[in-house]
Amino acid sequence: MHVLRIRTNKSQEIIDITSQVEEAVKKSKVKEGLCCVYARHATCAIIVNENHDPSVCEDILDMLNKLIPEHAAYKHDKIDSNAHAHIKAAILGPGEVIPVKEGKLQLGKWQGIALAEFDGPREREVIVDIVP
Ligand code: ZN
Repeated sequence: MHVLRIRTNKSQEIIDITSQVEEAVKKSKVKEGLCCVYARHATCAIIVNENHDPSVCEDILDMLNKLIPEHAAYKHDKIDSNAHAHIKAAILGPGEVIPVKEGKLQLGKWQGIALAEFDGPREREVIVDIVP
């Protein structure tokens, strides 16, 4: 099991972590299996999506903010004022599973793995577990 420590810089942003996950797959020496990428947090998410055109990530954040605006009279905001981040993280989910074949992640040409931060900036722990 590998643990990636990802430092986020903004309150909300999408950070490409494909190269760090690829490195963990390489180190594992697993040739065929499943790569589980899992964020141990309640206010960020892991996504697999396009990592070539950066406007895709901007569109994802913009639309999530339209659907789930900050401080929209959420009950949890009385506790720590980040209910919108929990809802966004719940919708996108804490993890993804990517097949590994011939030692390589089977991502599509336009796909990358990213951490979606909704309550930053802070340091996030992402577990990368490669199951043979
Ligand atoms: Zn909270």
